[in-house]
Amino acid sequence: MKFFQISLFFFLFSACVESGKGMRQPDFIKGVYGNPAALWDKGYNFQSLGMNAVFVRSGSLTPEFVERSRREQVKIFVEFPVLNGKEYLTRHPEAWPITEKGERAVPADWFMGICPTDSGFKNERFNALSQLLTAFKVEGVFLDYFHWHAQFETPHPILPETCFCERCIGLFEKFGAVNVPSGKTSIRAQWILQYAEPAWRRWRGTVLTDWAIEAKALIKSFNTDLLMGIYHCGWFPADHDSALYKNLGIDLPALASVADVLSPMLFHQMKARPVSWVRDYMKWLGKQDWATGSSAPKFWPIVQGHNNPGKVSSADFKKVLEFGALYPSTGVMPFSAESIAGDTAKMKVLKGFY
Ligand SMILES: [Zn+2]
Repeated sequence: MKFFQISLFFFLFSACVESGKGMRQPDFIKGVYGNPAALWDKGYNFQSLGMNAVFVRSGSLTPEFVERSRREQVKIFVEFPVLNGKEYLTRHPEAWPITEKGERAVPADWFMGICPTDSGFKNERFNALSQLLTAFKVEGVFLDYFHWHAQFETPHPILPETCFCERCIGLFEKFGAVNVPSGKTSIRAQWILQYAEPAWRRWRGTVLTDWAIEAKALIKSFNTDLLMGIYHCGWFPADHDSALYKNLGIDLPALASVADVLSPMLFHQMKARPVSWVRDYMKWLGKQDWATGSSAPKFWPIVQGHNNPGKVSSADFKKVLEFGALYPSTGVMPFSAESIAGDTAKMKVLKGFY
């Protein structure tokens, strides 16, 4: 390499590092999550912000949104809520998640989960997904609310033990080749947690992984090029007494073998963590075999720009975007379009970063 070329390389490298862009690939995903039309309402357009992707809630997806997004040359990924049972349970209380006491689980703050083995619910969700993909041409689908009944977007998580309905216990017996003694639900649940807990946790993980496998098959039946992503809780495995796996039922290595993209939700302020947690999470991820091998999915973290609780400063917003773009990330998106659209300082940060 000639001196001039070497100098140019180092000049460009320094410019990238100084601007916080690192050595990102040209196809690095620069997205915004939520209702990205909020950015248009404030006079921005996606191209001038440097964006190349939007992650839009299915409720905000309209033909007009798709048409203008195409003109502004961004990829469209649609968020699809999976195990949010609030509305379905009003019509189908039989799908209620049952606790170890044999009672219907109460809402976990604003979230109400569901029994994920209820086939009526599963059919309804997959029909809704089919209708969405029939009506709109998109580049991919991101599964959301993908966990057993719980609340993790808070410093004090709500982590109930579910679901001990007769169907779930029956399916677990088959999976684990165990006979759970008959009797009251609370007694049966106690027996499972005392004598068969490892198999019970494994079974719960497979229930979610099976949902992911079936959703992916459905998505690819429309177009094999469509990507399936999953938004998931960004706790470290040992956090909250291993609740990611034990309570939420998320077997991350297993989901990584199914999903095309994993989007850890690294909402630092909602979880009362320092911004450096986002960097630490990406560092940890970069050391996991399942996250870095040839069959690993892509990682596009979602970071917090939303002012709740308190205010996320534009300086912290810049940091979480930068940290969320660290290896093995190949994309990043802030939560959410509506929260940052009216904040000129954050919009300046976003544009500068993208
Ligand atoms: Zn159940």
